[in-house]
Amino acid sequence: MSYDVIIAGAGPAGSVTAAKAAKAGFRTLLLEKNTMCRSPCAGYVSCTINLEIPEDCVVQSKITAMRTYFPDMSFHDFRLDGFVVDRPSFDTALAMKAKEEGAELKWGSPLVNLIKDGVEFRGGKACGQVIVGADGVFSKTAQLLGMEEQMVVVCAQYHIKGIKPLPETGEIFFDNNYAPGGYAWVYPTGEDSAKIGLGLTRGNPHECLDAFIRDRIASKTIVKKEYITGTLPVGGLREKLVFNNVLLVGDSAGMADPITGAGINNAVLAAEVAGRTIIDALEHNDTALLLDYETRIKRLLGKPLARALEKRKRLGEYCDNELLQKNLPELWATFKQYWE
Ligand SMILES: Cc1cc2nc3c(=O)[nH]c(=O)nc-3n(C[C@H](O)[C@H](O)[C@H](O)COP(=O)(O)OP(=O)(O)OC[C@H]3O[C@@H](n4cnc5c(N)ncnc54)[C@H](O)[C@@H]3O)c2cc1C
Repeated sequence: MSYDVIIAGAGPAGSVTAAKAAKAGFRTLLLEKNTMCRSPCAGYVSCTINLEIPEDCVVQSKITAMRTYFPDMSFHDFRLDGFVVDRPSFDTALAMKAKEEGAELKWGSPLVNLIKDGVEFRGGKACGQVIVGADGVFSKTAQLLGMEEQMVVVCAQYHIKGIKPLPETGEIFFDNNYAPGGYAWVYPTGEDSAKIGLGLTRGNPHECLDAFIRDRIASKTIVKKEYITGTLPVGGLREKLVFNNVLLVGDSAGMADPITGAGINNAVLAAEVAGRTIIDALEHNDTALLLDYETRIKRLLGKPLARALEKRKRLGEYCDNELLQKNLPELWATFKQYWE
């Protein structure tokens, strides 16, 4: 089997890269480890010019505001513009778009090795001129390239029924008693349902989440459903994103924001840049042009991710709630102090 582009991972980064390459007429193979899309996620996406919500994606709520709670439960409101999406349907719609554009999609086919002129995956081998590692936080591609593991935050989340979340509002709670080194979130998914989760760097996420729900959400009517766990990269952008003919895109490259953990918008943005660069390199038959991807991404995401990484390091230092209470405005992007 011979392709122009082989992509590992049918998350947003991989599927958007695949759709772009296939649309330009290049033979594109998209390998996905799982048999369906199921990345764990709260599903918040910001409205940006480059991100259209696919038609087949289930939108669970519009978001027009974010409320950020200090440890003492005083809060700060901020207007924003986004959606809560059902993440499996979002990813599936992007993967189907890649297929419609002509990419060959193989489910249940994890990339297992990089070989001369291509890849090995479970069940086969394929030759390809360009390889894209869009295989998430524990990227096999990055590991095979000899890259270090990333710094991470571990997360847990329930989809809860029987509560009344604030309409169209994402709620963010900072409190070291429940989410040390991270925060807890509530995202509405309907009038009487919400995704409630947290990410932390110390402690047991399941126990902390149960304690948070018991103490902060307390309601007799709640029903906990769909418990999921997941891991976020928070070490910031990797230094190197291109290795000869291999590119890293999305979480595999450390593109999630180290302080908010949001990674979908950056993954889609980077995938568009990757797609354009790959097309350029293939059209000119010159894989050296792939290096432009690294330059462009560093120009676009380098500064904001470096700022967020510096904030993350500070968040790690504020281990008691008094310090967190005092310094939170410097750490969270909805406060003007974050940007000073
Ligand atoms: C609990 C939780 C909540 C989150 N909430 C939000 C949120 O609200 N908003 C937001 O913007 N971000 C959120 N994120 C972060 C977001 O999920 C990621 O940043 C985003 O999914 C990155 O996209 P990606 O395509 O790079 O990686 P992924 O979405 O992780 O996709 C990688 C894909 O590669 C596949 N794969 C893995 N290994 C291989 C292999 N060897 N071969 C082939 N395929 C492979 C995986 O199965 C997966 O489908 C959250 C993360 C977690 C853990």
